[in-house]
Amino acid sequence: MKDTEEEILALGIESTAHTFGVSVASSKRGILTDSKRTYVPQLGKGIHPREAAQHHASVVAEVLEEALTLEGERIEKIDAVGFSRGPGLGPCLRTGATVARTIAKYRSLPLIPIHHAIGHIEIAARTSKLEDPLVILVSGGHTCITAFSGGKWRIFGETEDITLGNLLDMFAREIGLSSPGGPAIEELAKKGQRFVNLPYIQKGNDVSYSGLLTAAKRTINKEAIEDICYSIQEVAFSALVEASERTLSHTEKKEVLLVGGVAANRRLREMLAKMSEEHGASFSSASDRYSGDCGAQISWTTILAYRSGVAIGYEESQVIPKWRIDDVPIPWR
Ligand code: AMP
Ligand code: MG
Repeated sequence: MKDTEEEILALGIESTAHTFGVSVASSKRGILTDSKRTYVPQLGKGIHPREAAQHHASVVAEVLEEALTLEGERIEKIDAVGFSRGPGLGPCLRTGATVARTIAKYRSLPLIPIHHAIGHIEIAARTSKLEDPLVILVSGGHTCITAFSGGKWRIFGETEDITLGNLLDMFAREIGLSSPGGPAIEELAKKGQRFVNLPYIQKGNDVSYSGLLTAAKRTINKEAIEDICYSIQEVAFSALVEASERTLSHTEKKEVLLVGGVAANRRLREMLAKMSEEHGASFSSASDRYSGDCGAQISWTTILAYRSGVAIGYEESQVIPKWRIDDVPIPWR
């Protein structure tokens, strides 16, 4: 942005699933604060939407307090309030939206609706310096391959069933690890030595993981856990890399960006970096700090959206639990 422009500060609220996060971003100084608390499901269970929403409601005050405090001083100047409008779990989304509406109304500030997945992309794009990447978005809620074209993020490939995050979390649960299980599976996989044959399903630009999950569960007690984790990663990531490679050739993009919670995985980064290099494309990944759900993905995207005139009336700001990424016009790209 131009140096002559006045600094804008945005408050962003994230509450789509397991995490309640609040952050303040500056148009000139980047992310100023980023505070969050994460709901942990009971051992062996997935996210219970109402319990997660209750968790979020119970931490609102402390998370807000932290996010509005910078170096011991209260941040008073806020220009816009953004919130994750979807996609996500209804009760969780509504908790975040209510907080956002309340603050916006009380302070007479514009309310900015943000698509959660676009938040994942923009927070990673900010530090990556990539301008027009093919994006691989992998998290608990998403597994898709998307690129910007004609004013919107278009889906080129996706999972035909469960997401990559679900695959890892559901397998982790099956072997008694607490959710989210991705990081623990990555650690176990590093100790794997033997490849266990599991179904590799990749069609067109799409992947499918539910057959892999079922087959992997059947190998528990027959193979070493480390070997199964290693093999799940190799098979699931290879399918995704193959789908990404096809899309890269098709779209002729020169950059690849890995975003979402699973972007923290070193093996996946390594495989995508190698594929990108073979095609002469630059590769970057969301940083560890901002790969998983956080307020910063919303506060930063709020800056971009607000500067482009995006805003919504309080009365029409209902959440959209099944909001598709290719339904969102992007005036700032
Ligand atoms: P998000 O919904 O974007 O916060 O992403 C959460 C998902 O990322 C969960 O499915 C986690 O298991 C997964 N995840 C987090 N860290 C890792 C990791 N190091 N390796 C694989 N998956 C991970
Ligand atoms: Mg997410």
